[in-house]
Amino acid sequence: MTITETDLGHLRRAVELARLALERGDEPFGSVLVSGAGRELFEDHNHVVERDHTHHPELAIARWAGWHLSPEERAAATVYTSGEHCPMCAAAHGWVGLGRIVYAVSSAQLGEWRTAWGFGPSPVAALSIQQVVPDAVVEGPVAELEAEVKGLHEAFARA
Ligand code: ZN
Repeated sequence: MTITETDLGHLRRAVELARLALERGDEPFGSVLVSGAGRELFEDHNHVVERDHTHHPELAIARWAGWHLSPEERAAATVYTSGEHCPMCAAAHGWVGLGRIVYAVSSAQLGEWRTAWGFGPSPVAALSIQQVVPDAVVEGPVAELEAEVKGLHEAFARA
């Protein structure tokens, strides 16, 4: 499967949510859950500054989906996210049996940028989604959104 204009629209919403998080002083990550029929079901952004460092939007989506959707609905849904799932969120995605993931920038890209901006290593290994969930259907990175997402992270890093 490749990225469609519809995918790009949902992914742009995820990036808007990342920008909203940044405006609230939080790390710029945002995610959207879309049903198999194309309806937006749930969205969130990072609250790691506001709450604690496990408050990632992809984990919130997995928990919401586990409570509110049937296994079939979860499998048919797509998660759009501004940055690739971390291992914690990828595991949650796999445990609840959600479907396809489309991300704008990869964990590897983000890791390279953060190193260049002077950050030390992350406390959690930057595994790819497929290293955590081998059968996951994953699309990304999406070149059209790279510069915008990188700019959000750079603004957070330099704040
Ligand atoms: Zn995460």
